[in-house]
Amino acid sequence: MFQRRLETLDRELIEKLQLERLKRTIQRIKDKNKKYWEKLGKPEPEDIKSLKDLQNFPFITKEDLRKNYPLDLACGEQCEFVRFHMSSGTTGTPVVNPYTPADVEQWGEIMARCLCAAGLTFKDVLQITPSFGLFNGGFGFHYGAEKVGCFVVPIGPGRTLLQLKFMKDFKTTALAGIASYPLRLIEVAKEEGFDFGETELRVGIFGAEVWSEEMRRYIEREMGIETFDIIGMTETGGVGLGIDCKAHKGIHVWEDHYIVEIVNPETGEVLPDGEEGELVVTTLTREGLPLIRYRTRDITKILSRERCDCGRTHLRLDRIKGRTDDMLKVKGVCFYPRQIEEIIMKYPEVLPNYQIIIGKHEGKDVVEVVIEADKQDEYLKERIEEEIYSLLGLHIAVTLKKKGEIPRSEGKAVRVKKFS
Ligand code: ZN
Repeated sequence: MFQRRLETLDRELIEKLQLERLKRTIQRIKDKNKKYWEKLGKPEPEDIKSLKDLQNFPFITKEDLRKNYPLDLACGEQCEFVRFHMSSGTTGTPVVNPYTPADVEQWGEIMARCLCAAGLTFKDVLQITPSFGLFNGGFGFHYGAEKVGCFVVPIGPGRTLLQLKFMKDFKTTALAGIASYPLRLIEVAKEEGFDFGETELRVGIFGAEVWSEEMRRYIEREMGIETFDIIGMTETGGVGLGIDCKAHKGIHVWEDHYIVEIVNPETGEVLPDGEEGELVVTTLTREGLPLIRYRTRDITKILSRERCDCGRTHLRLDRIKGRTDDMLKVKGVCFYPRQIEEIIMKYPEVLPNYQIIIGKHEGKDVVEVVIEADKQDEYLKERIEEEIYSLLGLHIAVTLKKKGEIPRSEGKAVRVKKFS
C-alpha cells in the first residue's frame, strides 16, 4: 500500500480531517476569489460546525463552470498557476481547471495511490494511451507512475500497431486507457495475429467512459488481464478521484482529498447510502479550482463506508452506471446505453462495437441498435430484440452489420447518435 496510514484511517479521523480541510477550502475561496465566495453565500469557515453543514451549500454545475470561462472561478492569479487542463468531448464552451504546483503534487499523490491499488510497483512498465495535452488522462497517469517509479511508455492515443509492438518490445505489464480503447487493441491484435498471451501484460486501468461488467469481462478474457476501474474528471482535478482495489468490491474514493455525496438528480436531496443518484464532489485539497458540491452528472451509489478486504477504509462507490445527460428517453421509457451494452455483450458472437440510433419518423420516436457480428444470423437479432423488450418494455429494432461497418473512434467511443 502506498500511503498505509492515510488510506486506513478510522472513519472518525477521516471525518475530522475532512472538516478541517473543508474549512480551509472555504477560507481559500474567501481569500482568493470574492465572486466565487459570494456565489456560495459568503460562508465563514468557523460557521461550519460539522460535515452535515455542507448540505446547506448550493451546488456548482458544469454550466456554472462554463459560464466562468476561462478563469473567473479560479482561486489565484494566473502567475500562481503552472498549467491548465480542459474538459473533453463536449460541445460549446469548455471547462478549464488551472493547477498550482501543489495541485500537480496532489494529483501525483492520488494517482500513485490508484496505481498501487491496482498492484503496480517500481518493477512495472506502464503504457499510457490517453493523450498528453488538454485532456487530463496522460499527465495524470504519468505523475502517478513517476511517484511509484514505474517505467513509463508515454505513447499517447492511437497508433494501435505501434502500441502492440511497444507492448512486446518494452515488456509492458500494465496498460492505462479510456475504457473503449482496449476494444480497438483487441480487434487489431486479432487481425495481426498478435497474441496477448505472449506479452507480460497483466493489468489494465481504464476509465473516462461508462463500461459495463460484461465489457469488462470481455476485455479481461481477451487480453488475459485484471482490470481496474478508475474515476475522476477535469473539474475535480483530473483522473484519480478513486479506483477499485484488488478486492473489486467498489471504487475507493480518496476521502482525505474529496467529500462525495449522492443526491436525487431531480430534487437535489441527499440520499442515504445504498440509494442510487447523482455523484456530488467537494474537493478538500485543490487550490486552483476548489469545488464545493460539484454535480458530476454521474449516476452511482455509495456501497460501503466499512473497512474493505484490502484494508483501506475510504468509502466505496458502485461503478458508474451512466451520466444524467446520457439517459435516453424513448416513448416515455428511460434507459442508459450501458443497459443495452450489458445485453448485447452477453452474446459471444456479437462484437463489442455498437451504436444506438435515435430519431423521429413521422413525429414518433424511433430507436435502433446497430451491432456487428461475424455471422448475419436472423435468430441472433430476434433474441437480442426480445431481451431488450423484456428489460425495458420497449420494442427496439436490432440491425446486424458486418465486422468493421460501425465507424471506430480513436478517442471516446460514439455509442449514441441522435437525429431529429
Ligand atoms: Zn479495497
